[in-house]
Amino acid sequence: MMGAWFIRKFFYIFLASRAIGSDSWEKVFQVNRLPLRAWIEVDLGRLESNVRKIKASLPEGVKYICVVKADAYGHSMPQSLVRFLNGGADIFAVANLYEASRVREVVSNRPVLVLSPILKEERPLCFDYDATPAVSSYAEAAAFDALAGEAGRKLNIQIKVDSGMGRSGVWFERADEEIPPMFDLKNLRVSGMFTHLSSADIDPFYTMKQVSRFREIALKYGREGMLIHLHNSAAYKYVKVDPPFNAVRTGLLQYGINPYNDKSGYENLGLLPVLSFKSRITSVGRRNGRRLASVGAGYADGVPSGFTSDARVLVGGIRCPMMGAINLDESLVCVDAVPNAKVGDEVTFIGRQGDAEIDLCDYSRWTSRIPWESMVAIPRRVARILKD
Ligand SMILES: *Cc1c(COP(=O)(O)O)cnc(C)c1O
Repeated sequence: MMGAWFIRKFFYIFLASRAIGSDSWEKVFQVNRLPLRAWIEVDLGRLESNVRKIKASLPEGVKYICVVKADAYGHSMPQSLVRFLNGGADIFAVANLYEASRVREVVSNRPVLVLSPILKEERPLCFDYDATPAVSSYAEAAAFDALAGEAGRKLNIQIKVDSGMGRSGVWFERADEEIPPMFDLKNLRVSGMFTHLSSADIDPFYTMKQVSRFREIALKYGREGMLIHLHNSAAYKYVKVDPPFNAVRTGLLQYGINPYNDKSGYENLGLLPVLSFKSRITSVGRRNGRRLASVGAGYADGVPSGFTSDARVLVGGIRCPMMGAINLDESLVCVDAVPNAKVGDEVTFIGRQGDAEIDLCDYSRWTSRIPWESMVAIPRRVARILKD
């Protein structure tokens, strides 16, 4: 298969980042065998196993749409894509055409669905990248149809229905006017229909209202061979996957994170977190009778300046409180509880040290972020270490 070259038994550093092209400092570190100051570890083996488990949990015949927008939620494309394929991805979903192009560098034999609205000027790129746009109106579909006619090509589209989120998509009350004529456009093939649930993790009542609105439209306009889908990670917990729904579309869950604060609902899947975020102590000093360690990751590395007094990091396997005074390059931790803490020691913001663990959801709560946000908020300056 393509890309077997990068599957190795060891840790190694993600050097490529062709799209960004600014990671050469990582090469400097590797060549000189210098320690990294701040890095994330992506456990690709766990990612593949999570994907496999989610796939195995789907009812017979239900397709698995893997959401890999935002660089696979910060988990590094293209390497992660191979693991999604190994784990059983049927379709990939991304936010925009740039991301579709990145998937197409590696994946040629799966549909790539673009979830967010496509700008008029971007439309021709759908042909270049064999991407499936999600269309929100008959007018938009007709414009794609005209382009496809000019190019002498057929284009797959999916119909996006707004069942109550209030953003893009055919507003559910306009379905009868907008949807039927889309099927008459000769150069298009309607390969699916979907809706997005705006608050599945916090408002099951509203979610079920969205589900029934979409179900009604799907029953009316769904056709043989079309993918009909609405399940995101949070909805997968309690919205049954039964007809007319024949695909699920999960993001967060694949990366081993439960969208619920009480961490309930997916125990039978046995998913494991994929991402860890680490740094090192760069100096140790004393102030006001406390032992304080500077850590080589600041807000330029994605550690937010606004964290609560509950915030902890792991040093020597012990939970240590984060202190104020975070700056661009460094943060501060009280290491009174770790008398032997010294310069160079590993500091874990997210992940494990021995038996102790800080989970991405705790880190998110302490830093006033939602888990989705924490995953994508670690910038390129932080090295990516991909683990097999
Ligand atoms: C991001 C996204 C998803 C995935 O959501 P998760 O909560 O991460 O599972 C599904 N559908 C659409 C339209 C999205 O934009």
